[in-house]
Amino acid sequence: MELDWEKGFTLDFDKLTGLSQGADSKKRTLSQMRGMFADAGAQERMIAAGDPLVYEFYELGAPGDPGDLAPGASITYPGKVGDEYFMTKGHFHTVIGTAEVYYTLSGEGYLLCENPEGDWAAFGLSPGKMVYVPKRYAHRSVNTGSAPLVTFFAFRADAGHDYGTIERKGFRKLIVERGGKPEIIDNPKW
Ligand code: MN
Repeated sequence: MELDWEKGFTLDFDKLTGLSQGADSKKRTLSQMRGMFADAGAQERMIAAGDPLVYEFYELGAPGDPGDLAPGASITYPGKVGDEYFMTKGHFHTVIGTAEVYYTLSGEGYLLCENPEGDWAAFGLSPGKMVYVPKRYAHRSVNTGSAPLVTFFAFRADAGHDYGTIERKGFRKLIVERGGKPEIIDNPKW
């Protein structure tokens, strides 16, 4: 398939995610997320028991010139570490003044967002819903359902990713299961 970034192209979602052509995704297993879940003991037991795939994402290799857009897709799998739902690592963009849109195709969850000044929001993700992530907000997908959470996203292609800030500090909030329902709590490590 030719991706003509100069002339434009269309792409079925199953081709974007490689579901029909076996395209490579970037995969993140639980062992690649050490330190990111509150219950480190539960995380180590799950790693020893098989190191489950937590999420994967697909990018198309958009050119990173000013004015380009980078579309992609992510799949966050259902599961929990202790009572904390499976989630993506989350990131700021290197160009922090970058907005992004997420559109949910299937599954249920939240897009957890926060800015360096401490403002935060948890936007519900459900099929057919779009979230606009404002500039300066880190974002993380959290799957609170029992099926894969599948989202489409697009952001400015020259924005880059800053994973390190979240790897060091985490998010201010965690999303955990309490009484069978998602609840947003303060991150005890903050
Ligand atoms: Mn992003």
